Amino acid sequence: MSDAKPDAELNAVVTQRMEVAPGLIILQVAPRGWELPAFESGQYAVLGLPPAAPRCPGSEPDPEAAKPERLIKRAYSIASSSVANSHLEFYVALVRSGGLTPRLWALRLGDPVWLGRKVTGMFTLGSVPPDVHVVLFSTGTGIAPYISMLRTFLAEQCHRRFVVVHGARHSWDLGYQSELIALHRVCRNFDYVPIISRPQEEPISWSGLAGHCQDVWTSRVVDRLWGFRPTPENTHVFLCGNPAMIEDMLQLLAQDGFREHTKKAPGQMHLEKYWT
Ligand SMILES: Cc1cc2nc3c(=O)[nH]c(=O)nc-3n(C[C@H](O)[C@H](O)[C@H](O)COP(=O)(O)OP(=O)(O)OC[C@H]3O[C@@H](n4cnc5c(N)ncnc54)[C@H](O)[C@@H]3O)c2cc1C
Repeated sequence: MSDAKPDAELNAVVTQRMEVAPGLIILQVAPRGWELPAFESGQYAVLGLPPAAPRCPGSEPDPEAAKPERLIKRAYSIASSSVANSHLEFYVALVRSGGLTPRLWALRLGDPVWLGRKVTGMFTLGSVPPDVHVVLFSTGTGIAPYISMLRTFLAEQCHRRFVVVHGARHSWDLGYQSELIALHRVCRNFDYVPIISRPQEEPISWSGLAGHCQDVWTSRVVDRLWGFRPTPENTHVFLCGNPAMIEDMLQLLAQDGFREHTKKAPGQMHLEKYWT
C-alpha cells in the first residue's frame, strides 16, 4: 500500500505504547484536530510513516529505501471498541525486514503518525444472523479484530456464545490474555482457548493446550465447552492472521459443511488474511 503524495500530513499522535512481549506492541493513536469516522468492530484502518522516520535498533535493511518520496502505509485491524471514539487501538507484530513496523517500533508517546481517515473491511459480525454462535480463530496479532468485537458486543449479545481460539508460539505472546480471562470469568457466554506451539520453551511447565489452532477444531474442544457441536446451521466461524492457519482451517471446516462467506454468496466462514 503506498501513496503518491510526497508530504502527506502526519495527522495523528501516539497516545499509548505498550510492549506486550518482544516483537509485540499495543499502540493507541488519536487524531489531531479531526474526528474518527464511525466504524464496525472487525474493520481495519491504515497507519503510515515517511521513509525518513527512524527504524528501531535490530531491524534489517530497509526495503523501502528505493521509494523515498512515498509515505509507507499498511493496514491494521482495530482492537478498540467501535463505541470508543477518542482513539484507535492496534496490536502490531514487528517484522524486522518490513517497511513500516520497524518504524512504528521507534515511535514514542506523543510522536506523530499518519492515520487514514477511512476505516474499511467486511470482517465484521454484520452479516452473522443474530441467532447463531460465533467461533473466532486467530494467530498472533490476528486476535485484534476480536478484541474490538468482544469489547463492543459481548455484554449486549448474551443470547449467543462466543469463543476465542488464540494460537501463538509461546505463552508470553498471547496478547490480551488477562482481559480475555477476566471476560470469561464475568460473561457466561464467552470462552477463551489459548494454544501454544512451543511448550518445550516455556520457563515453567505449560498446563494449557499445545499445538495449533487447527488441533482445537479437530479435537472438538469447542463441542465440549458448549455441550453441542458447532455446525453451519448454528455457528459462524471467523479466521484471522496467518494465511497458513486460514487455509488449513478452510479445508477442515469445509469437510464439516461450512462455506466461505462472500458478498455474492453468504456462508458461515469469514476470513481476514494478514499477508499472502
Ligand atoms: C486487512 C489487514 C489487517 C491487518 N492487521 C494487522 C494487525 O492488526 N496487526 C499486525 O501486526 N499486522 C496486521 N496486518 C499486516 C500489516 O498490514 C503489515 O503487512 C505488517 O505489519 C508488516 O508490515 P511491514 O511494512 O513491516 O512489512 P512488509 O514490508 O509489508 O513485509 C510484509 C511481509 O511480512 C510478513 N508479515 C506481515 N505481517 C506479519 C505478521 N503479523 N507476522 C509475521 N509476519 C508478517 C509477511 O511475510 C509479509 O509478506 C494486516 C494486514 C491486512 C491486509
